[in-house]
Amino acid sequence: LFSHLPRYGGDPILALMDAFSRDPRPDKVSLGIGLYFDEQGRLPVLSSVRQAQEALLRNGGPAPYLPMEGSASYRQAVQELVFGAQHPAVLDGRIATMQSVGGSGALRAGADLLRTQLGCTQVVVPDPTWDNHFALFEGAGYQVGGYPYYDTATAGIAFDAMRRFLATLPARTVVLLHASCHNPTGMDLDAAQWRELAGLFAERNLIPFVDMAYQGFGDGADEDAASIRLLADAGLEFLVANSFSKNFSLYGERAGGLSVVCRDAAAAEAVLGQLKVTVRRSYSTPPAHGAALVGAVLQSPELRALWLQELTTMRQRMRDMRQALHAALVARCGQAHDFGYLLAQRGMFSYTGLSPDQVRRLRERHAVYLVDTGRLCISGLTSAAIDHVADAIAAVLET
Ligand code: PMP
Repeated sequence: LFSHLPRYGGDPILALMDAFSRDPRPDKVSLGIGLYFDEQGRLPVLSSVRQAQEALLRNGGPAPYLPMEGSASYRQAVQELVFGAQHPAVLDGRIATMQSVGGSGALRAGADLLRTQLGCTQVVVPDPTWDNHFALFEGAGYQVGGYPYYDTATAGIAFDAMRRFLATLPARTVVLLHASCHNPTGMDLDAAQWRELAGLFAERNLIPFVDMAYQGFGDGADEDAASIRLLADAGLEFLVANSFSKNFSLYGERAGGLSVVCRDAAAAEAVLGQLKVTVRRSYSTPPAHGAALVGAVLQSPELRALWLQELTTMRQRMRDMRQALHAALVARCGQAHDFGYLLAQRGMFSYTGLSPDQVRRLRERHAVYLVDTGRLCISGLTSAAIDHVADAIAAVLET
């Protein structure tokens, strides 16, 4: 029955991780996979999360099914974190929020909703984007196209080309946007550009779908959600997928949310109903544990304050690493290359502009692992590794 099935080639980033773990060189540095590591190079367990975990254990109860749309208190907490507790759309009950299986599950559920209920079949994603955007939308039956986003020549955003392209799209095309900390380039739109896009989306009847996987890793939890709030302020109807994988360091717990901003509370109720149908048809009800941890942190004023502090520590560490790598590269290369992109980009990733061949030499000669596209994961850096990484990059730039 199954012997003719084609072999799955696997995920290139996970294959890179495997190669890294087999590499015996002691000074190896992993800058490929998008995980947040602390200054010791470990995946952190946040104190806020540990305290929530301990309280859960103390109260340890049974494990009933959650409702299809997830835990009500978690959904409320997600909505308030993403939109702001006082946002009129929140207060008016115009947002349908469901608990999702990570950010990925939110993207898929949103894609399913738009296809089954609105008949959408076309989505455009930034060029470049997180690879899995293609798989998730194709898996939901969409044709996935790219829109101009990153301009390699200027290491900036090709905003004019982006706007012009979006203006040609048919009504009800889904437009996938990164809220902040764009993966993989680290380059974000500014407020004026978001405002301009909001006008375009309204005029052309496009459907924005905002992906926020790194809330708090750019400029702050509220600051990084500003783009979403701006679209809501503009009166648009749109979708938001958010993830707690990175900012709570809870990757395997699969905690996320899907929010659909609607015209009024009645529409939001209808949307929530159809989201339940989507869930019922695939996995029935979401996993409880991760959402219980995130919900407990966000609902307790003390734990929430502690989490925001921990988020600041993570963000600051990534900024420090950007600055340290920038200074170390300038010290080695002087003005021969422009490393300003390291400081301009936000979040966990930097697009270095290194070619696949340079990336290969980094790996083979210096045991420094980047993704082939030249994406460097800033949070894989530690103070101890900066000199080695800067030496390695300087060496491959010279030859
Ligand atoms: N969107 C983007 C842009 C991402 O980078 C990621 C994670 N790498 C996700 C969504 C999915 O996050 P999760 O692991 O929570 O599914």
